Amino acid sequence: RRPTAAELVEGLNAPQREAVEHEGGPVLVVAGAGSGKTRVLTRRIAYLVGVRDVHPGSILAITFTNKAAAEMRTRVVDLVGPRARVMWVSTFHSACVRILRAEIGHFERSSNFSIYDSADSKRLMQMICRDKQLDPKRYQPRELLNWISNCKNDLVRPEASADRAPRGQEDVYPGVYADYERRLRAAEAFDFDDLIMETVRLFRQFPEVREKYRRRFRQVLVDEYQDTNPAQYALVRELCGNDPSALPEESGIVPIDPPELMVVGDSDQSIYAFRGATIRNILDFEHDFRGARTILLEQNYRSTQTVLSAANSVISKNPDRPKKRLWSDAGAGEKIVGYVADTEHGEAQFIADEIDRLVDAGTTTYGQTAVFYRTNAQSRAFEDVFIRVGMPYRVVGGVRFYERKEVRDAISYLKAIANPHDEVSVRRIINEPKRGIGDRAQEQVQHFADRQRISFGSALERLDEVEGLATRSLAQLRAFATMMADHRAMMAAGAAADELLASILQASGYVDTLRRSNDLQDESRLENLTEFVAVAEEFVAQAHVVDIDQETGRPIDAETGEPLEEDPDTTPSATGDRTTVPGQLGGLGSGAPEPDDSLPAFLERVALVADADAVPDGDTDGVVTLMTLHTAKGLEFDTVFLTGFEDGVFPHMRSLDNPTELEEERRLAYVGITRARKRLYLTRAVVRTQWGQPSYNPQSRFIADMPGDLLDWRRLVEPATSWETRAASRTSSARDRTEGGHVFGSGVPRGPHVDAVTVGDRVLHTAFGLGTVVATMGSGSNAKADVDFGSLGTKRLSLRHAPMEKL
Ligand code: ATP
Ligand code: MG
Repeated sequence: RRPTAAELVEGLNAPQREAVEHEGGPVLVVAGAGSGKTRVLTRRIAYLVGVRDVHPGSILAITFTNKAAAEMRTRVVDLVGPRARVMWVSTFHSACVRILRAEIGHFERSSNFSIYDSADSKRLMQMICRDKQLDPKRYQPRELLNWISNCKNDLVRPEASADRAPRGQEDVYPGVYADYERRLRAAEAFDFDDLIMETVRLFRQFPEVREKYRRRFRQVLVDEYQDTNPAQYALVRELCGNDPSALPEESGIVPIDPPELMVVGDSDQSIYAFRGATIRNILDFEHDFRGARTILLEQNYRSTQTVLSAANSVISKNPDRPKKRLWSDAGAGEKIVGYVADTEHGEAQFIADEIDRLVDAGTTTYGQTAVFYRTNAQSRAFEDVFIRVGMPYRVVGGVRFYERKEVRDAISYLKAIANPHDEVSVRRIINEPKRGIGDRAQEQVQHFADRQRISFGSALERLDEVEGLATRSLAQLRAFATMMADHRAMMAAGAAADELLASILQASGYVDTLRRSNDLQDESRLENLTEFVAVAEEFVAQAHVVDIDQETGRPIDAETGEPLEEDPDTTPSATGDRTTVPGQLGGLGSGAPEPDDSLPAFLERVALVADADAVPDGDTDGVVTLMTLHTAKGLEFDTVFLTGFEDGVFPHMRSLDNPTELEEERRLAYVGITRARKRLYLTRAVVRTQWGQPSYNPQSRFIADMPGDLLDWRRLVEPATSWETRAASRTSSARDRTEGGHVFGSGVPRGPHVDAVTVGDRVLHTAFGLGTVVATMGSGSNAKADVDFGSLGTKRLSLRHAPMEKL
């Protein structure tokens, strides 16, 4: 049964309905977040098919992501039935790939072209830089590629690009661009930007091809129009403009009237300027498309008034924006909850607890809950805590931390140290980084192992008996075997997991290889490894923490509160390094069991966290969604946690002294806030590990933009105490230090540690926050202190390991 016209506009307000029913000239729907823009597009498509009898094959709908496309298609099919499936609902890129596959013959190129992703493009650029012998210090592949990408987004070809090049580079840049194009061609490849640019070029160069698509697509709809770049705009213009370039007379084709066009967008949600998007497209729409009309939507159906007011006050700080009146009749709703955690783990823990509380109370479901962050790297703390507490979640976009290649490689090194017979791990890293142990050499070792019925690892210890090895391979295999044996010896001598990890990353050349590379990817790999070392350090530090009974001063089990067995090594009778200093005992003489900071213990922990099976899959309805603010565009959730509300995190550090970028960050905040339907949380951490160093970031300036009465602070750390000021001044120096490279290698102190404290000292611990030393014991590497962390209890910490500083 066909839906009736009345059914298809049911529940729409007047301007929404007008947009759905509109016939004729181009329409721009501009409206704030949650006002039903996407809903209008979806309903309009259904209306076109169901009421106006438009053939689904003549509809082209453009969404920002493939996921949004799939959703829109499903909705339309639900409304008007399966025949709607043949519509083109896709991103600009997918639509262009389809067009190019069909038409690329006009350019005399193969329709079997490959599409280079950014990693491929980078590899190609590295080759070009090498071949052209460009000084790697002056010419970074990433910079060159960004520049080329900007050219392509503006439809500028190499021969016309000289005046866009940086001063003094008018030859080099266009030359590299031309080479890059030539080699893409030779490889029968297009990069992402090409897909759009080449389609536009195709339409311009072959107007009869364009005419074919103008005849085919009689209805064009574009969502998120504020994020289109000039190339995408040109494409829309070719397909829908009323003044396309002329058709050659001899073609005999009579140009057809432009199709109907509807674009929807919100200039306050433009968040892709860094990829060349420009809101000029939305501002100039009426000018660019003759006879266009604009429809405004003002009622927000998504959020409570509280959420909307917060969003409006943040975005209103941006200059030169068209004022919008966005209102909601959903009522004030709940206040926004603010929470200041001591660390990013505290932040994650609060969120996990809060989600569980809300779900237990039946207030929300996991599937209706989302956690947003500014950068992918922030997901790690959430993943760690969520896995530990068994919270079902999924990360959208971005590879899960423990699935990243470099992290897996590092884990394989550790496993290979811990267990020489772990063949999978040994084989994974034996030639990673490349050290000249090729497949053939590995095969010979394997053959020997097979014949002797020993493990690959054991065969490595009997290399002299392996036949047919080339001299070079033999030397390399020996070096590898020695390195692994050395680390096993370190482990046997009691080296802690973090020490072993830092050491093997260094000794294996893994870190140096990444450092030497010009690939941007490798820089982020280095960051991830720094982060992984931090994970190990944290593990070791935790292993050295013992809970202390406040009354008896004796170690207790953190969970049961039962007294623990004593460790004879730290009792006052011990000698040498471990002798306690009687005067500092303060009557708290007993020790605790030897902490297990060993590599096997660490690997066990990592295995649990890294196990993909621990993450529920499939049923996305039942899991909490984690994603960056950029991917959150267009989505909505009952409960939203916006995290890392710190200057330097969000807004991003890069934007702090750049007004244009700050405006974009503000729009990102607007996007984030307006994803929430009923409940919004804003969280931040006092201390956060960034670039492998503790950073103390002040509260995000966006919080000050919101009226205070919208917020309910669940926990606020007292402002600007002396330590915070000190901390703030430390931040820059911590960053300066990382500037020169990441910190690896054994023996280098990583993070704050104290050498000595006395009773009464105030300390700041990265996990437990502020505390007071109530007792000290031991000396040298065995020095310990009992620290009272208030509500978190008293902990016995090893001064050598605890990430803590004296205030
Ligand atoms: P964004 O700017 O975030 O992309 P949007 O303008 O596209 O938002 P939609 O996602 O289409 O807004 O709609 C927001 C929410 O409001 C959706 O849940 C949608 O179903 C609902 N909604 C939109 N219009 C109406 C209406 N007339 N009546 C009831 N609910 C509506
Ligand atoms: Mg939308």
